[in-house]
Amino acid sequence: MKLKITCIPGDGIGPEIVAEARKVLDAVVEKYGHDMQYTDILMGGASIDVHGVPLTDEAVETAKSADAVLMGSIGGDTTTSPWYKLPPNLRPEAGLLGIRKALNLFANLRPAVLYEELAQACPLKQEISENGFDMLIMRELTGGLYFGERKTVEENGVRKAIDTLTYDENEIRRIAVKGFDIARKRKKKVTSVDKANVLDSSRLWRAVVEEVAKDYPDVTLEHMLVDNCAMQLVKDPAQFDVILTENMFGDILSDEASMVTGSIGMLASASLNDTKFGLYEPSHGSAPDIAGKDMANPIATILSASMMLRYSFDLDKEADAIDEAVKQVLRDGYRTGDIMSEGCEKVGCKKMGDLIVERIK
Ligand code: NAD
Repeated sequence: MKLKITCIPGDGIGPEIVAEARKVLDAVVEKYGHDMQYTDILMGGASIDVHGVPLTDEAVETAKSADAVLMGSIGGDTTTSPWYKLPPNLRPEAGLLGIRKALNLFANLRPAVLYEELAQACPLKQEISENGFDMLIMRELTGGLYFGERKTVEENGVRKAIDTLTYDENEIRRIAVKGFDIARKRKKKVTSVDKANVLDSSRLWRAVVEEVAKDYPDVTLEHMLVDNCAMQLVKDPAQFDVILTENMFGDILSDEASMVTGSIGMLASASLNDTKFGLYEPSHGSAPDIAGKDMANPIATILSASMMLRYSFDLDKEADAIDEAVKQVLRDGYRTGDIMSEGCEKVGCKKMGDLIVERIK
């Protein structure tokens, strides 16, 4: 398979972790006989330094012409970096919002996996964490409360703020289809999360998800109220496979799910549009405190590259090879500083990449 990837190394640890992910991808494509071409673009602070803006039209065009985008992270130290003295629309994060919009990325996927080897990092009780868990939160990214009409008015001397939560059935259907498609590649279960006992938008959400489910008889669908889901995530996280939910609920639940894994350097993510195109990046930021010191954990980015193979290119065997190599390195006792525990061997970012590559070859 011939694949064109746009890479966004970005800022802080971004270039270091993307370099390791590329090393791993190169090993996989060589082993399985594919051809992967990379083109780098600047975004965030790196683009501000060169072009004065966090994202140029040319960079967007390059990203659009690729089959997928692999990103590190963008942004600097928000208190000391001169990038944060610029107006908000010229700061690094504006680049990320800009590219998400330009690429029409409406589905955000965040896996939350607890590896047996890292169980001690999980803040849950041992009898819960010892079962491990492997779930994926599928969050609608472009609708709902964050994008509805809003205003603040004053009525009879009292300030009043109004936010509106709107979804139409097409927005719900397209994310539900993605959710069921992805469940088919996993444990074939979708938990659709809403607040249908109160909100009209949730009642429509539930109705449309049920319509979509008819096309996926092999996938089990259950509905869960968002307050219950927040509870179940800490009570029995092993019950979940794909959690499908709207923008604000997904924002909150995906942070909760990632925190119960206990290790931010392990969390991958993807944002997809309605084709197979996606932008793949770790869930963490640019960690300016450890940038350039060969201390970053590259695994979140490496697992994001694995998601790219699986979800944009249907290369499941190749993605499995990466996931298995990561597990093997953990089993063999190697750890970067952020996931270090007693009795393990501490390694830097580059060495961690090398160890994963060795296990793929
Ligand atoms: P952060 O995720 O960068 O760092 C939080 C803590 O986790 C730091 O102590 C950091 O050293 C550690 N950490 C993060 N990733 C790690 C890794 N791979 N290996 C080892 N340790 C890791 O969050 P922050 O400090 O709040 O933000 C720093 C910058 O990143 C800000 O400019 C912020 O806007 C930006 N940011 C960017 C993205 C993105 O690019 N999508 C996401 C979140 C934050």
